[in-house]
Amino acid sequence: MEVTKGIHLLEETKGSFVYVVLGDEPVLVDTGMAGKGEQIIAALQRIGIGPTDLAHIVLTHHDVDHIGNARQLQAWSRATVWAPEAEIPYIHGAARERGIRQVLKALMRVDRSVDVRAYEAGGRVGGLEVIPAPGHTPGHVCLRAGDTLLAGDLVTTRRGALRPSPGFLTWDKAALRRSLQEVGRLTFDWVCPAHGLPVRRGNLWETLL
Ligand SMILES: [Zn+2]
Repeated sequence: MEVTKGIHLLEETKGSFVYVVLGDEPVLVDTGMAGKGEQIIAALQRIGIGPTDLAHIVLTHHDVDHIGNARQLQAWSRATVWAPEAEIPYIHGAARERGIRQVLKALMRVDRSVDVRAYEAGGRVGGLEVIPAPGHTPGHVCLRAGDTLLAGDLVTTRRGALRPSPGFLTWDKAALRRSLQEVGRLTFDWVCPAHGLPVRRGNLWETLL
């Protein structure tokens, strides 16, 4: 589904949506839950993206439902995989998880042998702005492509309403709050979360603060 010009949601990844941003350097945003690699590849090919076209894979954070197919998609495309520096030890399984994430890590097996580069501060990847938005996890980022915010798990949507990411999965609630405020100061029209369908911003962001 094309959300807005050049930004596609891959419907096959319902549960933890993956997006593609077309342009000179097509970018995949997150990689969904493990086991969806073939479906993601088929969906990319349907919108005209072959293995040599995909330039970058950007990860918003390290949760298993976002990094699930990173290794497979990297092997397929040889794209550069980017992640927040603070998330990389978690992606590789080297850092110890807390609380519910310990359980999720044990239950949801992921190939963690992905070669990851850290975003540079204030950097851009394939035309997307990297926006630090810690709280859900220590290094969580959002990405902005034109007037579209690829929100990762900063927010979720349900029946057209915006919500902060759920408290039981929040690493630091105060940090999440600050991130909601700071991201809210930016200009964007569309909000594309991993969990829930995209919504137009309108004045919905105010309901989060
Ligand atoms: Zn998630």
